[in-house]
Amino acid sequence: MARTIHIIGAGLAGLSAALRLSARGERVVVHEATAVAGGRCRSYHDASVGMVIDNGNHLLLSGNRAALDYLRGIGAEHGLIGPPAAQFPFVDLSSRERWTLAFNDGRLPVWIFDRRRRAPGTRALDYLALARLLWPPAGKTVGDIIACDGAVYARLIEPLVLAALNIDPPQASAKLAAAVIRETLAAGGRACRPLIARDGLGATLIEPALAALRERGAVVRLEHQLRGFRFADGRVEALDFGAETIALAAADAVILAVPPYAAAALIRGLEAPNQFRAIVNGHFRIAPPAGQPPILGVLNGTVQWIFAFPGRLSVTISAGDRLLDTSREALAKMTWAEVASVTGLPPELPPWQIVRERRATFAATPAQEVKRPRAETAWRNLFLAGDWTDTGLPATIEGAIRSGNRAAGLVTGR
Ligand SMILES: Cc1cc2nc3c(=O)[nH]c(=O)nc-3n(C[C@H](O)[C@H](O)[C@H](O)COP(=O)(O)OP(=O)(O)OC[C@H]3O[C@@H](n4cnc5c(N)ncnc54)[C@H](O)[C@@H]3O)c2cc1C
Repeated sequence: MARTIHIIGAGLAGLSAALRLSARGERVVVHEATAVAGGRCRSYHDASVGMVIDNGNHLLLSGNRAALDYLRGIGAEHGLIGPPAAQFPFVDLSSRERWTLAFNDGRLPVWIFDRRRRAPGTRALDYLALARLLWPPAGKTVGDIIACDGAVYARLIEPLVLAALNIDPPQASAKLAAAVIRETLAAGGRACRPLIARDGLGATLIEPALAALRERGAVVRLEHQLRGFRFADGRVEALDFGAETIALAAADAVILAVPPYAAAALIRGLEAPNQFRAIVNGHFRIAPPAGQPPILGVLNGTVQWIFAFPGRLSVTISAGDRLLDTSREALAKMTWAEVASVTGLPPELPPWQIVRERRATFAATPAQEVKRPRAETAWRNLFLAGDWTDTGLPATIEGAIRSGNRAAGLVTGR
């Protein structure tokens, strides 16, 4: 009888592992605790705004090769939209200046030498800070490596690190910031095109994956939460789902693709990141004004990014922990006031929703970075996946998908 690979968790890590394995003809069963797949990357119908929204705005870059590969594999790459070139419009709420960072395609950063392409108030030499961040020594923060002040910091490095690592940059792991810079900015504009899911995360990243899995005969069991493992003889012997226990045959394997706090509760003694950072998103039901770019960076405000979708404007605030005790109404008013001032839309609050993900990502500090486990475990048929495992990347879609691919490769011995 063919073996079965059990995947626990239907976030992007679990789904990518399931897709890889089912494509190789393996029999796959995905067990997801909640009623929907997608984990931290999901869409839902929201009654306050009366439309389908994402739990949070997710940005991909054209250099996210595993994510693009995943999308191609499920036939959904056309669901991503973005400008044809690597351009990032910005507005500074203090000075009211507006500009567009426009990276050139090749690896040689010609844009740094062009006043019209770089951030105002910066000189080409100031960008050496980026080179210092490329190969930092282990265990350092961004603040240990560069001075966290000046225009290049405020207008490029701070927004980039905040968005990619979801943490105030002075505390951020320099190693993780370096990994992002090497795969994006240092790889040239071709790797930096911003991409968003036009029809939402669910329609683009999740539903086509579920359809592909179904087509290949994989089973996805929703509302099927793993309660515990039974270990024996150096392997997982059975999976305990409460009402049901599944005994594993000798060749069966398990990929645990749940968040770190869930994994630590299931595996006693597992070292895993245990500090987190929040992301706050505000969604406003209103047509974006003509000419509003799909993604706009905002400096010196509470809002950091404004995303424009058909019939909706959405804002993102990374490392938003300081806002967790602010009322949702106050947050909606505060963020809408900024959006209205940037877009010229009326100050009256449109229908809104505020979504706060308290544990959006693990805290990308050097101390948490060393707690990230490898995919292999002490049990020969149990492998870990998830954006928090030791991917070398911050907690991102790209990291989650790479972790799933890696765990799938270990299961098949590739
Ligand atoms: C608001 C927000 C904005 C973000 N923005 C970006 C962005 O712009 N770009 C980017 O690249 N990344 C972004 N991210 C990060 C990205 O969403 C995550 O890195 C990625 O989705 C993590 O996937 P995962 O599969 O590792 O984990 P998860 O998505 O957490 O999936 C784990 C799954 O396991 C399930 N589970 C838990 N316990 C059990 C159990 N016992 N049994 C069965 N199932 C269980 C959970 O229900 C969940 O479905 C953002 C995240 C948030 C929250």
